Amino acid sequence: MSRLKNNYNLPCLHGCPHPQVVSAGVGRPRVIVGTSGQYYILSSRLCCKSCRKNWFADSPRWLEKLPRRFINLLPAFLTYKKAICKSVMDELRRTGKSPTDMANKVNELMHLKYEGAHLAYLQAIESVWDAEAEVHGQKTIGQFIRKSNTPYPFSSYEDPNGWCGISVSGFYLTDCLLEEYKRQEPALSRLLQGTFGQVFRSDHTRKVARKVTLASGIMSSYAIMNEHWLIVSWVMVQSESERSLEPMYQGMAKRYNDAGVEKAGFHWVDR
Ligand SMILES: [Zn+2]
Repeated sequence: MSRLKNNYNLPCLHGCPHPQVVSAGVGRPRVIVGTSGQYYILSSRLCCKSCRKNWFADSPRWLEKLPRRFINLLPAFLTYKKAICKSVMDELRRTGKSPTDMANKVNELMHLKYEGAHLAYLQAIESVWDAEAEVHGQKTIGQFIRKSNTPYPFSSYEDPNGWCGISVSGFYLTDCLLEEYKRQEPALSRLLQGTFGQVFRSDHTRKVARKVTLASGIMSSYAIMNEHWLIVSWVMVQSESERSLEPMYQGMAKRYNDAGVEKAGFHWVDR
């Protein structure tokens, strides 16, 4: 945030007309659920000198007021209770797993990390005991100082003063995914409308259109794909004549013209 302050006037959470936002010290840690377990970010405490109010920099209500290019610097999507690392959302989209499967996987990983830390703690105690028993032949003064030889137990997974482990549900991941879709919808639809290509292959098929019959006859579907097997256009036609495809080709030509993309150079057809 300090870098951004130099070229952007940070807004006030309470909507002051002349905000003067400064850092008011180190804030609270915020837990983030990632693909390799949970981790934390520290968010500053912010203060507006105009209205003298304080808030934390990770408040979703404040983040919403920032331009997109600033929020994109964050490694996670922040919600009120938890935060989801962008890597989890990417993994969810990439694998096409159900949110429940993903939640189970993430919870398992977080518990594994906890068990690993617990084991390391127990082994550290063992190491201290060995040293005090002079297993390796060294001399320590530990036994003269400590009265009790019982180490503190490793706190449970959920203990708020200890490990403070969290768990996520499939419902929560679904919410995050939908929220993220809403955010990205304009960019996604631009991307989908912008499917172009330089090599086309196309064919007629009656298979998908078998159920679609009109009084005038059977319909067939006609799909055009580009060199990456993305569908560039897909229409239903009533005859397999070239003429029936004219409106579609005109529409595609318009799309190429509007976008200023060079027209396709090759076209494979099914005849
Ligand atoms: Zn203010």
